[in-house]
Amino acid sequence: MTESTGFTTRQVHIADETVSAEPRALPIYLTAGFRFTDVEHSADHFGTGAGFGYSRTGNPTVDAVERRLASLEGGDQAILVASGQAAVVCALLSLLSSGDHLVAATQIYEGTRGAIIHNLERLGIETTFVDATSIDEWRAAIRPNTKAFFAESLSNARNDVLDVAAVSGIGDERGIPLIVDSTFTTPYLLRPIEHGAAVVVHSASKFLAGQGSVLGGVIVDDGRFDAAKSGHLYPHLTTADRLGGPSYAEKYGRRARGQYIRESVVPRLGPTPSPLNAFFIGQGIETLSLRVERQSANALAVAEWLAARPEVVGVDYVGLPSHPHHALAERYLPRGSGSVFTFTLAGGKAAASHIAESVEIITHMTHLGDVRSLILHPASTSHAGRTEAEREEAGVFPGTLRVSIGIEDVDDLLRDLGRAFDSLPASTPQREVVVL
Ligand SMILES: *Cc1c(COP(=O)(O)O)cnc(C)c1O
Repeated sequence: MTESTGFTTRQVHIADETVSAEPRALPIYLTAGFRFTDVEHSADHFGTGAGFGYSRTGNPTVDAVERRLASLEGGDQAILVASGQAAVVCALLSLLSSGDHLVAATQIYEGTRGAIIHNLERLGIETTFVDATSIDEWRAAIRPNTKAFFAESLSNARNDVLDVAAVSGIGDERGIPLIVDSTFTTPYLLRPIEHGAAVVVHSASKFLAGQGSVLGGVIVDDGRFDAAKSGHLYPHLTTADRLGGPSYAEKYGRRARGQYIRESVVPRLGPTPSPLNAFFIGQGIETLSLRVERQSANALAVAEWLAARPEVVGVDYVGLPSHPHHALAERYLPRGSGSVFTFTLAGGKAAASHIAESVEIITHMTHLGDVRSLILHPASTSHAGRTEAEREEAGVFPGTLRVSIGIEDVDDLLRDLGRAFDSLPASTPQREVVVL
């Protein structure tokens, strides 16, 4: 630039060189693209995907968070996307084509259920819903065109624990991979890949980011794709590319599925994460174990307190010995049972509404995994799209409330709930106390 360089040129180009310094925190590469040093460099990037060219296909901030998540999940690689919903849909679309069949748990997030029923079905992908806890149902649902199993590690609203090893074992007999949405458990509590799952997805908007400020999602692949066993199910991974080049399986071997998600599904469907959001997720992860440990301990204390209240007919928290999956949780979740669960009031919707509207420290909102404690009435919100019978099967009654317990001092949470319970009208029904 010289003195005669124009105003507009200078406003764009002056001081745009990268300063070389070594920030200790993860730098935010908020840029659409990256300079190429020469034509060989640009050709090499386009040919092999090495390095960084454009932020939809790769970004150093995003890459750092992906490597951290892959390590924590015990996976081969992680692909960060813009939301949990994007992670779920991209993972499914990387395996399923028109005419294919999916087996999914009935106990899944409503957004996922909606994507399956309203979107995948329209694309010619059929789904059989099964009770996640019934190994027989998983096995019976398999068809010759079944290409994936999908379930959540710990489900809303009953806190059902997925027997990851058993379900992935059933799929494995036919080369069918299990995709686990592990949002509720986080890699700190459970690493499904260690138990046989092939792909793990998360809503990073929840515990991973942890502070309710950004949305994000992640897909983690195990890097164990076996072309000899599963190749026939996925012609898009095993047939030569359009120009006659090697297939994904030939090029990447056991990493074929992960690379297909990274190269062919996510950048083309386009749910690119913002590097700024990736930074917040990366920063959140730095305190994941501390938060989840505290949240699990707080949740157990709150669940025990609720179970002792005469106004409460049931608490579906798997950390309580009374939960039908408590033994399974001890096996899969030795570090804690998470902090999202439901409880049901004898007083029905009126009592539930009173509690949700009366708490002051606990926030009445949708979302979970936040450092703040949150409460929601599922029957009129997250599960409003289900029939009454489906709601009851899922453990959602008019008097049911869902909580996501945060990191606050637990005594303050109990006092907050205590105030709300104590202000219930005197006529509020109570659980019948059976005296033996
Ligand atoms: C929130 C959530 C999602 C969707 O994630 P978003 O980040 O909101 O798109 C998927 N699965 C589960 C279990 C969730 O709780």
